Amino acid sequence: MTGAPEEWGRGDQRRLSTRDFPAEVLALVERKQGGRFCLDCRREGLQTPPDEPLEVDHLQPLARGGDNNWRNLAWRCRSHNLAKGARARPSPQAAKLPAWARRTRP
Ligand SMILES: [Zn+2]
Repeated sequence: MTGAPEEWGRGDQRRLSTRDFPAEVLALVERKQGGRFCLDCRREGLQTPPDEPLEVDHLQPLARGGDNNWRNLAWRCRSHNLAKGARARPSPQAAKLPAWARRTRP
């Protein structure tokens, strides 16, 4: 990586997977949130299971002009990330519990 991590990804709208982001950039996202956890799980009072992968999500979707800069990034678990997808807002279905939460219910 060249240049400061704060400037990385600015105006860059390539679709990347989480492992393509430099560790320094992911650390900035983590620091911004105050930890590496799923924002949606936290909001719903859920404990993300340790085997649920965390992914980098775009606050403003790439398809709607968002970029790969750390200011536009947040951590989400895979289920919440998939549920959100490219939609502007989650469907009522997706607003319910993530797949793993349903799975672990009695
Ligand atoms: Zn989640």
